[in-house]
Parts: sequence; structure tokens; C-alpha cells
Amino acid sequence: MQALKNHQEYDFPLDWNSIQDRIHAIDPIKYASTRNFEKGALTYLGPYISRGVISTKCIFEHTKSLDLEWRSIEKLVQELAWRDYWQQVWVEKQSRIESDLNFEQKAVLHSGVPAAIVEAKTGIEAIDSAIQIFYKTGYLHNHIRMYIAAICCNIGKYHWSAPAKWMYGNLLDGDLASNHLSWQWVAGTFSNRNYVANQENINKYFNSAQRNTFLDVPYEAFNKLEVPDVLIKRHHWKIEINYPESISLQALKEKKTLIYNYYNLDPLWHKGEDVQRVLLIEPDVFKRYPISQKCMDFAVGLSKNIEDIKVFVGSYSTLQEQLKNAEIVFKEHPLNDHYQGIQEDREWMSSIEGYFSGFFKFWNKAKKELIK
Ligand SMILES: Cc1cc2nc3c(=O)[nH]c(=O)nc-3n(C[C@H](O)[C@H](O)[C@H](O)COP(=O)(O)OP(=O)(O)OC[C@H]3O[C@@H](n4cnc5c(N)ncnc54)[C@H](O)[C@@H]3O)c2cc1C
Repeated sequence: MQALKNHQEYDFPLDWNSIQDRIHAIDPIKYASTRNFEKGALTYLGPYISRGVISTKCIFEHTKSLDLEWRSIEKLVQELAWRDYWQQVWVEKQSRIESDLNFEQKAVLHSGVPAAIVEAKTGIEAIDSAIQIFYKTGYLHNHIRMYIAAICCNIGKYHWSAPAKWMYGNLLDGDLASNHLSWQWVAGTFSNRNYVANQENINKYFNSAQRNTFLDVPYEAFNKLEVPDVLIKRHHWKIEINYPESISLQALKEKKTLIYNYYNLDPLWHKGEDVQRVLLIEPDVFKRYPISQKCMDFAVGLSKNIEDIKVFVGSYSTLQEQLKNAEIVFKEHPLNDHYQGIQEDREWMSSIEGYFSGFFKFWNKAKKELIK
């Protein structure tokens, strides 16, 4: 596929050295001026951050070590802060992020996902091509994510939740907080304003010159736009996966055990210690939040960076029963509420915690610490 050849950066290597190379390739100055464009100097680190291989803090520390002026790195640091911000909202609001959080979505006419989105047949070339590449690579540009969400929620009048699950399930960087809360931001259920973009905007950032699409209208027209015919047919997206092979319970020892999972694949965590390391894959979690085979294989592939990791497919309680009185250690995360044992903190960029009703309230506090 020609388009894919132009997107080598959408290829996400699994080995630790390549991930470090990606961190070292960051160019914060170019990032700031090009991030909204298709070929912008993005970091492509999302899949490693979301899978808990690296943290926003480690990227921030590397960026600071470049010895650039604050204004040159601020844009990138601010985007990293968006990630920490959404995580803090999740910690506070827990599973409430899965439904309209602060405002009810207005003028909803449909549920499910527009078939035109799932099948990459909206008729908008930049979007259809990005969706085809998305299925092959597991990556979507931030701006395309916003366009897709706007088309589903604010043009097609679908409730945000089903299309958000479709996108989450196919993204290598799928993260329930960044995903669902960004969808809510676009749909106007997080803050009381929704987001739309027209064809001119897409043409500008995605190097196209297409005209006469359903988005080829001035912004004032969006309020009165009828749902385009192409968005009416819906798709009830479903996904089935094969889990990786599991070790038998008997192969586990009754000794101090670190639990890794889809959100924590950190190879440096307690590195070198004599502990048992288990990647816990709980089918119940993936039934509730389905992901594609590509995403599962990516996570299992990344786990190979962790010394002597064993994959266990089953529930936390079964694992715990087998480990009897052994110490169990895990990292804090909203999806780990049912774990019992010793909880350790995740790494954050700043010490600012808690729920802030808007990003900039959080950022203004975090920035004071980060700028030092
Ligand atoms: C509808 C929608 C759905 C999204 N779903 C997810 C998701 O499931 N998982 C996810 O990690 N991000 C999600 N994002 C946020 C953002 O699109 C991705 O983090 C970013 O595109 C990842 O690519 P990158 O690493 O090249 O980003 P870069 O632009 O290089 O940014 C570096 C890092 O900063 C953080 N970041 C950048 N922009 C944002 C943002 N707008 N919100 C939160 N963090 C940000 C990410 O951790 C990212 O890896 C979503 C955004 C939208 C609009």
C-alpha cells in the first residue's frame, strides 16, 4: 500500500533500544510548529506510554536535558500534561468516565458506530485513507482522531461511547482516560462546547484539495446540517481475540510476585530483584473493554522486555489463591481496584493531583513546578 510506505513512523518496534532511540529523536521545536499536520514531527511514543513501558516523566526529563529554553519545549510538555490530566480525572471519577461526565450529549439520534467510519467509506479521502492505515498500524494522528469523533458525534449525531470503544480497541496506544475523555471533549459532555472541523481544515492539515464533501461547508452551516445519508447506516462493531498461551498455575512459585498488565509493562520496575514477574491477562477486563488482536500481540510483544516474565491468562483471584501467602505488588491504576496486596505509585510529571474541572487549571499549577 503506497500510503503506508510514507508512514514508516507508524511502525512500532517492540525492543527497548528502539524505544529509547525514539525518545532521543524527539525534536520539541519542530514538534511545536508541526504537530497538527499529517507529517508533523510527532514523538510516536503514545503506544509505549499507554502500555506503561515509559512514563510522561521520563520523556519530560529527557526533554529538559536538551537544555532548550522553556518556550521551545512548552508545547510538548503541555501535551504530555494533557495525558497526566486525563489520568487524574480517571483516578477521581473511575468508571464514571464511561458515560456523559459533566453534561448530557445534545441531539443524539443514533447509537452504534457509523458503518462509513468502520468501513473507511465516508467519502472524505484523508479520513478514509487514515482509517485504512489505522487497521494496519494501530495508529491515528491526533487531528484525525478529532475529525472522526466530530463526524460521529456532531455531524452523524451518534452517542460518543460506541465509536470511542471502536477507536480504543484498535489503537496501540488505547487508554480509556485519554480516549473516552477526548471523545467526551469533542462531544461536549466534558465541557459544554463541542468540536467540529470542515473540509477546508482537513485539506490544510492533511495535504488534500478535496471539495464537495458533506464537510465542505462554512462553520456557520454546522448548526443546521442534516445528518448526511452516508452516516446513517450503523455498524455494531464487535471484536474477538485469541489470548496468548498461559503458564499453568502450578508453574508459579509462592514468592514475592510483581503483577504486570495491559497498562503496566515497565521493564525497569524493580529491575534486577529476585522476584516472580507475572503478566496478568484477565479475560473479564478485555470483555468489558475489547481490543484487537494487533493490540494484544503488541502488548505481549512489549512484555518480552521484562526479565523472565510469565504470562498468566485468568482472573486476579485465581492467581492470588495460587500464590497463597506470597507478597503481591502492583502499580496504582483505576483498573486494578480488585487487586489486593502492595500498591505502588505510578510515575507522574508533577506532584499535582486530583480533579480539576478544566485542563488549564491543572496545567497552570503543574507548569510552575515543571518550569523550574
Ligand atoms: C478522539 C481522541 C481519542 C484519543 N484516544 C487516545 C487514546 O486512546 N490513548 C492515548 O494515549 N491518547 C489518545 N488521544 C490523545 C492523542 O491523540 C494521542 O495521545 C496522540 O495522538 C498519540 O500520538 P503521539 O505519541 O505521536 O503524540 P505526540 O503528539 O507526539 O504527543 C506526545 C505524547 O503526549 C501525550 N498527548 C499528546 N496529545 C495528547 C492529547 N490530546 N491528549 C492526551 N495526551 C496527549 C500522549 O501521551 C503522547 O504520546 C486521543 C485523542 C482524541 C482526540
